[in-house]
Amino acid sequence: MDLDPAMASIAGFPPASSGPEDAPSALSLVGVSKTYGTGAARVPVLHDISLSVPAGDFLAIVGPSGSGKSTLLNLIGLLDRPDSGEIRLDGLSVGFQSRAEAARLRNRLIGFVFQSFQLLPRLTAWENVALPLLYRGAPRAERRGRALAALENLGLADRVDHRPSELSGGQCQRVALARALIGEPRLILADEPTGSLDTATGATVMDMLRDLNARRGTTIVMVTHDPDLAGRCASQIEIRDGRVQARRGAAA
Ligand code: ADP
Ligand code: MG
Repeated sequence: MDLDPAMASIAGFPPASSGPEDAPSALSLVGVSKTYGTGAARVPVLHDISLSVPAGDFLAIVGPSGSGKSTLLNLIGLLDRPDSGEIRLDGLSVGFQSRAEAARLRNRLIGFVFQSFQLLPRLTAWENVALPLLYRGAPRAERRGRALAALENLGLADRVDHRPSELSGGQCQRVALARALIGEPRLILADEPTGSLDTATGATVMDMLRDLNARRGTTIVMVTHDPDLAGRCASQIEIRDGRVQARRGAAA
């Protein structure tokens, strides 16, 4: 087996804590800051964000447009890097890897659901769903088998060979959800996953996330601007101008 440099580089890190009474959080941030641009175009976006999310939590992140919610989720999801501070996933320090290492870690640890789905237009539904398995080197028969099962679970058995342009918004979001779930990540990050869906379809997607959280104990961090949705999540934080303004629930 090839040596995985991402795993080798993080293997040396001690766990964030020891002892059962002090189990590592699924996710923790300490003093995370992020600024975009330089000089006159400098935009400070996140200021000294600290946050600890226990395993199995369902955390909603709310706040006005432009407050830094997506930036925060992208940092947690290793799609971008903080300027300073520390991010830990399952007790492992992450956030300052190379792009390739970040991609490998993301593939193993995280399922990401985007507001705009981010499906590849030339691939069919099942091929989109199977992408994380392709990156892991799984053979085609296994990829197709698992993708079909995932799509069937989400009520899309009759759409597996359709391309995104041939699917409704709700169907695209379910394909995106299946892609996020197929690798069985312990952490799902969702950026306004119901934002481009009608109310009924959005409710279905929320039910699926809740079910996953309740039955598998998957930790979920979801950005939403809908106070009703956020109010029904186990924990909630509010971001304003790049700072945590208010907290409720287990996440602290
Ligand atoms: P939210 O998701 O809460 O609406 P964002 O995290 O998308 O907010 O954006 C926060 C701020 O950061 C906004 O002022 C936005 O214009 C700015 N911003 C986001 N991404 C970038 C980027 N790649 N380059 C420059 N500025 C950015
Ligand atoms: Mg956003």
